[in-house]
Amino acid sequence: MNFFFAKIFAFSIFAKHNLKINEKYSMNGKVRPKKALGQHFLTDLSISERIAGALQYEGQALEIGPGMGVLTQYLYKREGFKAIEIDDESVAYLLVNFPGIESKLIKGDFLKLPLEIVFQGDFAVIGNFPYNISSQIFFRVIDNRNRIPEVVCMIQKEVAERIAEKPGTKTYGILSVLLQAWYDIEYLFTVGEGAFNPPPKVKSAVIRLKRNSRENLGCDEALFKKIVKTSFGQRRKTLRNSLKTLFPTADFSPEIFNLRPERLSVEDFVGLTKYFS
Ligand code: SAH
Repeated sequence: MNFFFAKIFAFSIFAKHNLKINEKYSMNGKVRPKKALGQHFLTDLSISERIAGALQYEGQALEIGPGMGVLTQYLYKREGFKAIEIDDESVAYLLVNFPGIESKLIKGDFLKLPLEIVFQGDFAVIGNFPYNISSQIFFRVIDNRNRIPEVVCMIQKEVAERIAEKPGTKTYGILSVLLQAWYDIEYLFTVGEGAFNPPPKVKSAVIRLKRNSRENLGCDEALFKKIVKTSFGQRRKTLRNSLKTLFPTADFSPEIFNLRPERLSVEDFVGLTKYFS
């Protein structure tokens, strides 16, 4: 048994042992929402059913942040399902209310989860994401793109729009370019504040990301990322002004350098990366 599984195993025993203490709140009551963990529990069941139904991939799946299981109830009996939840109280609630979930539930931080140990082969990602770490979740998805064929998630509406936007719009940004390089993105539907407890201050939206057929960018990927990030670092500046700090001796006379970064597609950024390579 390797170290990681030893940890999961130890956790299961610990969880069983702890059930009596936790039963007190998890049987009678609900989990108390904690702001620091981005907890806004979805209470509208028709919406959670739609989110679960939006997942088209039929293989293994990972749910991030199951909370009280409003989405999990439609997913956890699938083969190859796993969920990762950071909150002790939510974990205790799930263990009591979802018999059989124990072997599929990992207590911990998704951002630190060793994905290569938890899953062999491809897996989809699904969840009503903790909004405070949604960008970090997407950066992990990008890093693991060749094993993650699909993502269905609820996030802050503005972030959803930004990710799904085409070039030329105001909100198109770093994540739009980096995600669109590898995924086709569909904005599925908007969800109002009233569907949650407690209601968040912002509207939410559900999006679906499906891995496109691109195998590589055809340019140096690290440099591509650096160029995208630097260009959008000061998005009101022209590319010339933003990029000359990175490439002080380059020729910035081509027309494209008069543009602002939001006008450039993934292919344009690939072209720029080749230009500077
Ligand atoms: N899926 C539930 C809860 C959504 S709220 C619902 O729709 O009602 C976000 C959930 O993510 C919370 O349960 C929170 O505890 C959990 N969470 C927050 N940060 C996390 C992290 N780093 N890793 C795993 N889960 C996290």
